[in-house]
Amino acid sequence: MRKYVIMGVQGSGKGTQSELLAADLDIVHISVGDIFRWNVQNHTKMGAQVRRIMASGELVGDDLVESVVQTRLTEHDWNFGFIVDGFPRNRRQAEFFLESYDIDAIILLDLPDSEVRRRVLNRRLCVGCGINYSLIDNSPAVPGRCDTCGGELTTREDDTEEALAVRLRTYHEKTNPVLDLFRRKEYVITVDARPAPEVVQAEIRQQLGLPPAKPQEDQQVGQQEDQGNERA
Ligand code: ADP
Ligand code: ZN
Repeated sequence: MRKYVIMGVQGSGKGTQSELLAADLDIVHISVGDIFRWNVQNHTKMGAQVRRIMASGELVGDDLVESVVQTRLTEHDWNFGFIVDGFPRNRRQAEFFLESYDIDAIILLDLPDSEVRRRVLNRRLCVGCGINYSLIDNSPAVPGRCDTCGGELTTREDDTEEALAVRLRTYHEKTNPVLDLFRRKEYVITVDARPAPEVVQAEIRQQLGLPPAKPQEDQQVGQQEDQGNERA
């Protein structure tokens, strides 16, 4: 059983790295942001509640977030463990989490703010299959179209200069202090998030003391597979 939390600023690659680790270790990737985006896309009640908050770059209220995480974790389809991405983001959420679960390690992806802007503003998402593209180093063959499914590529509603500024400020003000709390109690590993995804993944595994990844032919970096999140 392995229980991890992955942290890092916007665009540091939390989703990509979580997917890689989850696929290989057979653990469940729980992305709070993905759960909210799924609800927005599918026009659920929760989606209506969080849409504007997310688009502005603010944090969703703690009560709602905590119930989403708790519901997802009590589903218990995580026999081999889980990796939580996007939670906790402030002191209250961290305390809630530490009371309820024994975490094996916190993975911190370290990226300078200058690189954050470049990555986030060049990020595109396929509406069809959820694959992420980067116009910097991973452009689609046909502009605006997904290589895999032909779907339309869009920009996340909160990947704008304005919302990003809010998100970054919140990260530094509220999320960074959580790390100090974790450093006292848990095992935090810090990984340089600037290199290519495979390099970052190898470094994470090395620091966690895991063997190198098994080769996986059909695995798509950045693919969102976890549509089961709708129940949360
Ligand atoms: P990022 O890490 O790039 O900001 P996410 O996809 O993790 O993106 O989250 C998107 C948005 O979802 C956040 O800006 C926030 O509005 C909401 N959200 C996600 N996780 C949390 C959380 N733990 N607490 C409050 N709001 C959250
Ligand atoms: Zn696609």
